[in-house]
Amino acid sequence: MADEKDNDRFPGTDRTNHRPVYVVGGGPGGLAAAAALRGRGVRAVVLEKSESVGASWRRHYDRLHLHTTRRLSALPGLPMPRSFGRWVSRDDVVRYLEKYAEFHELEIVTGVEVSRIEPAGGEWLLHATGGRELTGRAVVVATGHNHTPRLPDWPGRETYGGELLHARDYRDPAPYAGKDVLVVGVGNTGAEIAVDLVEGGAARVRLAVRTVPHIVRRSTAGWPAQRTGILVRRLPVRLVDKAGALMSRVAVPDLAAQGLPRPDTGLYSRVRQGAIPVQDVGLIDAVRAGRVEPVAALESFDDGKAVLADGTRISPDTVIAATGYRRALEGLVGHLGVLDEQGRPVVHGGRTPKQAPGLYFTGFTNPISGMLREMAIDARRIAKALA
Ligand SMILES: Cc1cc2nc3c(=O)[nH]c(=O)nc-3n(C[C@H](O)[C@H](O)[C@H](O)COP(=O)(O)OP(=O)(O)OC[C@H]3O[C@@H](n4cnc5c(N)ncnc54)[C@H](O)[C@@H]3O)c2cc1C
Repeated sequence: MADEKDNDRFPGTDRTNHRPVYVVGGGPGGLAAAAALRGRGVRAVVLEKSESVGASWRRHYDRLHLHTTRRLSALPGLPMPRSFGRWVSRDDVVRYLEKYAEFHELEIVTGVEVSRIEPAGGEWLLHATGGRELTGRAVVVATGHNHTPRLPDWPGRETYGGELLHARDYRDPAPYAGKDVLVVGVGNTGAEIAVDLVEGGAARVRLAVRTVPHIVRRSTAGWPAQRTGILVRRLPVRLVDKAGALMSRVAVPDLAAQGLPRPDTGLYSRVRQGAIPVQDVGLIDAVRAGRVEPVAALESFDDGKAVLADGTRISPDTVIAATGYRRALEGLVGHLGVLDEQGRPVVHGGRTPKQAPGLYFTGFTNPISGMLREMAIDARRIAKALA
């Protein structure tokens, strides 16, 4: 394990050269950055709060497969094996991350949570579990876009007698067989859990929708939606919005009668606001067949019932909140003035904030071209900047 004493092993030499770069977080973003740094001869030490790499992926629901292709989801320096197939399963993502750390011989310290990062005379001081104080020549923050579940504080929540859980705690549909379930939120997670519940034998599945999503086919005639995302990424937003609307009319049936009208804001405009389109892995068919019923947004609970935005009161056995996550970076770096009003870092990849040179971020952008691909690009840029 690397510890603070490492910095003092070489008295009389340029100590800075011996300071490692600390990478906070052992998910794909952190591992990619560490591997890219190592590839350029820079010592990187990954600090991971859980007991293993890829902690987020180990927790995801069983059914999950990447909706980005195997090839376009690989991290620098190690392709994913062909045997994983085109749409890689959750378990194979975990296997890949384990292999990745081993293959690149990454230095990883598990069970260490970093709580605060501070500048220290041109270097960076990290406060971590057990009173540790670690000094690095630079820091890469890779603690994850999906860090802390966001559970809205619905009024009257305490009156609800059924089961209320966040999507993070959903694993498989077995516990919900024969039950009436309300899934709240129609991002990729909510859409996929709703379909999983239907296929797993839930008696009734309703999907509470606040903002109607853009739905795209994961691939059309063998062409993955992600590739289109990569191609159009630098084009003007209005142009992509128009093309998106046209493509959607061709590829996706009108579900207005079932409660999912086409959105009136363009696809790319929504991506720019942080909402990536829903990739269809069964939602369209399930909604058409009436097996997933879109309903109005959940507003509150009253007298044990769920109250929807249109005034409907329903009594599901279970409410699953697929309501997203918070970055939760405030405690770590909020005092450094490096976050925007939504709590996201103001820079990513090879750039560092003007007032915080040496502080890098990866994994906090959610581009149409795929996050894993973006983190691979960020990793190379960070390594280049630091080498
Ligand atoms: C359900 C789901 C499906 C997704 N599917 C795709 C997909 O198909 N394609 C795609 O490109 N992207 C996908 N993503 C988005 C993204 O690629 C993943 O979320 C990916 O895991 C992000 O990697 P990361 O390293 O930034 O964060 P994470 O994987 O969340 O890793 C962060 C790590 O940091 C650790 N950590 C957090 N705080 C601290 C701390 N203070 N100190 C020490 N360690 C800490 C955590 O334990 C964790 O191991 C998906 C996301 C979700 C939620």
